[in-house]
Amino acid sequence: MHVSDLPVPAAVREHYRASGIEELYPPQAAAVDAGITEGENVVAAIPTASGKTLIAELAMLTADGPALYAVPLRALAREKYESFAELPGVSVGISTGDFDSPDEELGEADVVVATAEKVDSAIRNGASWVEDLACVVVDEVHLLGRERRGPTLEVTLATLQRRAPGVQIVALSATVDNPEDVASWLDAELVESTWRPVSLRTGVYDGSEVRFDDGSALGVDAEAADPAEERATAVTASLVEGAIDTGGQCLAFVRSRREAESLATRLAEADLAPDGDAAADLADEIRAVDGTATARRLADAAESGIGFHHAGLVNEHRALVESAFRRRELGVICATPTLAAGVNVPARRVVVRDLERYTGEEMSKLPVLEVHQMCGRAGRPHLDPYGEAVLVGDERTADDLWERYVDAGPEAVESQLAAREALRTHVLSVVASGFADSTAGVLDLLDATFFAHQSPDVDLSGLLATVAGELAEMELLDVGDDAGGVASVDATPHRGAGPDAAATASDALAATDLGETVSRQYVRPETGARLIEGIRIIERMADDDVTALTALGVVCATPDMRGTYLGNRERADIYRYASKHAAEFTTAPDEAEDFESWLCAVKLARLVFEWSEGASIEALVDRYRIGPGDVESHVERVVWLLGAGDALAATLDAEVDVFDRVRRRLADSADESPGGDVERQPR
Ligand code: ADP
Repeated sequence: MHVSDLPVPAAVREHYRASGIEELYPPQAAAVDAGITEGENVVAAIPTASGKTLIAELAMLTADGPALYAVPLRALAREKYESFAELPGVSVGISTGDFDSPDEELGEADVVVATAEKVDSAIRNGASWVEDLACVVVDEVHLLGRERRGPTLEVTLATLQRRAPGVQIVALSATVDNPEDVASWLDAELVESTWRPVSLRTGVYDGSEVRFDDGSALGVDAEAADPAEERATAVTASLVEGAIDTGGQCLAFVRSRREAESLATRLAEADLAPDGDAAADLADEIRAVDGTATARRLADAAESGIGFHHAGLVNEHRALVESAFRRRELGVICATPTLAAGVNVPARRVVVRDLERYTGEEMSKLPVLEVHQMCGRAGRPHLDPYGEAVLVGDERTADDLWERYVDAGPEAVESQLAAREALRTHVLSVVASGFADSTAGVLDLLDATFFAHQSPDVDLSGLLATVAGELAEMELLDVGDDAGGVASVDATPHRGAGPDAAATASDALAATDLGETVSRQYVRPETGARLIEGIRIIERMADDDVTALTALGVVCATPDMRGTYLGNRERADIYRYASKHAAEFTTAPDEAEDFESWLCAVKLARLVFEWSEGASIEALVDRYRIGPGDVESHVERVVWLLGAGDALAATLDAEVDVFDRVRRRLADSADESPGGDVERQPR
């Protein structure tokens, strides 16, 4: 199918032609045949780089009203926003920042790009633009299978379909085992394809050579170093250098931040920079961002044409590495697997050195889907004759790697909604935002989720009764007669209850004022309960004891705060600090449920406090052995949670202003950039 046949404005067709798009790729043509331009729901499960963006654009441009493009990550939102903004005659809005504003102004845009969490939050806060949507595109819909993101995504989609009846849903997925499940859930046509614009061969290094799935082999010139780990690194280095020598670029995936940096240092022994001047400029830009040791290491590597990429980097460094790689100023990026799920950085060769990762307790094998996403990055359209992905094994492991990752297909997507924690969050939000006022109503909505579609025989009513009871104990939900009914929550099966199933009084559910605040502030119920407990303790504390540390201690001990770890030597130091400031904290160590988590919360509170007092990121990174990007994300979360604490204090009519005071102090030290990222102001 030719671009000139598309039912989009002439200027858009011209824009496509100017970007080198003449004929539609086969999966794109299949999506048009499936009715993407006629308002049909479509699930497209197709490989990376097979042109999903165009499929989304065709749906959004032909929809009879505003469209929403939902992404899992902020970095992706920015990339999509920039790409849609280039479409002639289309106004684009972006929503990825604070969680709690309705963003009515987004109602003006033709296309809104938002993170899935932001969409969920907009729905909870009653944003009216949601009701006007004609088309919703969900990127990376296979994340339905993720523990936390998945339930949010499915409940959001189920509510969106209620709020905007008849809305066109387009879901874009990586290749998974059961795309038909997702398609039948969404009542969508399925477009499934393994077609790629650049062919991909995948191989395994078996201790002597790489064997590819197309029958070819590649000798690897690596010294037979020992132990196995060093050999894997030597093989990786040789594969990286080989790709660059022949004019390609390479992505090398390893299991941890430290490994990414040490592989980069090792590779920097050879000069791999495609362009020395550009590399020197890039290094200067990297150093200009901040003066941390990480920045110095990254800049030094960049001078040799090498980048590294992981969650410990500040956003600005990550963005610099990605864009320099796309401009071909870096020959290789040594990365943790998060890069594969993120932005568009194709390379000729992908080398996966580590196929296991430490999960906190043990080493576990990477999921097939994740490895396929890394491999799928191989092959740049128009630049590479083919893409090549190599999994580094040895004599012992090669057969297993081959079976698991080359021969076998990816995992199925499975709903995670039945997890109690997820259900608590979503039951509260469904009731608080007025979608349901009874157990029957909640069950009716849950009936429209992916979970119910996948497990039609599971009766959720028992679980719902338990969860409602837990929320009532947290003072977030009124149940039965407390909610205006006459009896306690009804645990009889309600599966299949339709919209006309009358809610009986015993069924009644109502969010308390606290529950409404918790839902609007977009914190988990358990976080809400901890904040409430903290506020009540603060009310009883002597004024002099209530300091910034008090508020920081409360928010850092909530489950919405991303955890940290403690080094052995650090433990005693943090404990001493906690003892010295014992009067300021709301919880004593012997009252804590878990001593280790309590110490971690103290560490985070101290870190953010010192940041607010002017400590440099450099000093904090050094003192607490975390990445510069961790400081950024911890501060950002603390600012959000302090806001929630302040809102709950107001709901409780408590005379506690310390959350607000500390939030303002942090905001003074921080600048909210358009992406909502907190960055350090120059002082
Ligand atoms: P993904 O499926 O990974 O989202 P993209 O939509 O980003 O892939 O497309 C990958 C690249 O292919 C982009 O550079 C895009 O411009 C290009 N592309 C998409 N469709 C076509 C086409 N029909 N003809 C030529 N190039 C195309």
